[in-house]
Amino acid sequence: MAIHILPPEVASQIAAGEVIERPASVIKELIENSLDADARKISISYREAGRQMLKVVDDGYGIPADQLELALARHATSKLENVTDLFSISTLGFRGEALASIGSVSRLKIISRPKDSEIGAAIMMEAGNSSPMEMVAAPIGTLVTVEDLFYNVPARLKFLKKDVTEKRAIDALVRRYAMAYPFVRFELTDDKKTILQTTGDGDQRAVLTKIYGFEVADQMLEVMADDGSMSLTGFISPISLTRSNRSEIIFFVNGRWVQDTPLVSALVKAYHSLLMVARYPMAVLFLDLDSSEVDVNVHPAKAEVRFRDQSNVFSFVQRASRRALMAYSPIPSINSQSAWGDAFPGTLQVDPGWKFSGELNDESNAPTEAESASLQSGALPLLDNLVPLLRLVGQVGLTYLVAEGPDGLYLVDQHAAHERILFEKLHSTGENGINTSQKLLEPVTVTFPPEQARLVEEQLPILGKFGFEVDPFGPGTFQVRSVPSILAKGDPSEAIRTIVEDFEEDEEPLQGNVESILAGRICKRLAIKAGQALSNEEQRALLADLEVCNSPRTCPHGRPTMIHLSVDMLERQFGRKGKR
Ligand code: ADP
Ligand code: MG
Repeated sequence: MAIHILPPEVASQIAAGEVIERPASVIKELIENSLDADARKISISYREAGRQMLKVVDDGYGIPADQLELALARHATSKLENVTDLFSISTLGFRGEALASIGSVSRLKIISRPKDSEIGAAIMMEAGNSSPMEMVAAPIGTLVTVEDLFYNVPARLKFLKKDVTEKRAIDALVRRYAMAYPFVRFELTDDKKTILQTTGDGDQRAVLTKIYGFEVADQMLEVMADDGSMSLTGFISPISLTRSNRSEIIFFVNGRWVQDTPLVSALVKAYHSLLMVARYPMAVLFLDLDSSEVDVNVHPAKAEVRFRDQSNVFSFVQRASRRALMAYSPIPSINSQSAWGDAFPGTLQVDPGWKFSGELNDESNAPTEAESASLQSGALPLLDNLVPLLRLVGQVGLTYLVAEGPDGLYLVDQHAAHERILFEKLHSTGENGINTSQKLLEPVTVTFPPEQARLVEEQLPILGKFGFEVDPFGPGTFQVRSVPSILAKGDPSEAIRTIVEDFEEDEEPLQGNVESILAGRICKRLAIKAGQALSNEEQRALLADLEVCNSPRTCPHGRPTMIHLSVDMLERQFGRKGKR
């Protein structure tokens, strides 16, 4: 094929593809426009996860009739004039591409009336072609309706996920903006059903409560730091409140939601050594700095930014978060890492940090080859399946139990061991692997944020199969009547939250061996944690329970529950026997 310039409709669809990926991206652009127009109230609604229809209505300053047609043109903006402006952008939009992009892949309708105008104007665009403008009666502000998104781009349509997933993306997006703009009233409805409504009274903690529910919001720690050139405010989770991925770490830079992994890493580093492997904090943080210090023009959807002085920004974020964390969280007095390192220098070739590093990934994986190799070398053989009777010596670093057996010393990881115990109990109490259920004396009411509530509703049958009896009980609220017997002693609302969180992370929660996956996750979550003080009784019970397990030496995710230091090895290490 000879080189040729692409026809305008192709070029504009390519450009649109960069900005508009899914219904949530349309809503993001429209909300940003409303915020740029100083709206005090923004109402968002959609039908069929935004595929069929989505609408954003604001009470902002509107678009004058004589500029309405221009607003739909590509590279048409009121927010930027020259190249210099590009380096000090104070609005969310500046590319002049959103409306043109949306209009090229949907049926777009805009009705707008500026404050000083008696009447509004309406314009439509279908697959890039705009219709003549009409004068219409309208309230002050702007109403944008998008119908049949991607109807002319079937390939894109195929890439959309299931409705639940698309809705979740929209809901999560609106939640974020509602958090970031507490002075704006947000209203989100899914086909007449209200999903989120904020008051716009500026109370950020109140918005946080609406979004995460009281229990979570109440625990979140406030961050407030300012070094004269930049400030970080918002909320981060205490070390006791974690998620299994980074999706709840949200950053806004100068009022703009960014998905900037270095910023997320900076926050995760603030928790270094305080969280277990593959657990991540939750956070909603607002970083503000001079607009000349940030380059926002690096990503078509404006989702990434560059900082002039990256390392300074990251270390500020890390220090500010760490400080907030330290100010509020009781940290175990013995640092397990250094205690280990000092106690057995050069002997234990197991990296003592591997349980604690917030940087490592996916706990559900078995130990890496390197880990297994280091476990097996250094005279730390993993014996075959069973454990001998053990005599408890005590707890170290609030994390490991030390026990003596006939053939040496055993170090037991209390979390991994408890996971194993719970896992086997969960499987043994049930018939055919399905767990028996126990009625709660008093039903417990649990409230979920909108997004999760919907998931619970969808997954009620699975929960039932698993021994949970859960009934809808008002908007976002459920009543738990029974729980799997093994969980009877724990906090039922915590148990159900854990599971819902896991549903949330699965694209296809109904597939695969749901029960056993769930079982593993429940155990992981409900097991005694590292850093948790145990009474003598509890320590002894833990060892006794572990002894009767079928596979006591590994946790359900395949990592060791214990390390054995044989008498033989101890003698060698102390130079009593053989050469080193
Ligand atoms: P950008 O936001 O990058 O300028 P858009 O294509 O999103 O580009 O919007 C084009 C222009 O239309 C904006 O610059 C603004 O002047 C106007 N506009 C869009 N949405 C609104 C709104 N909700 N209220 C007022 N003006 C708007
Ligand atoms: Mg815009």
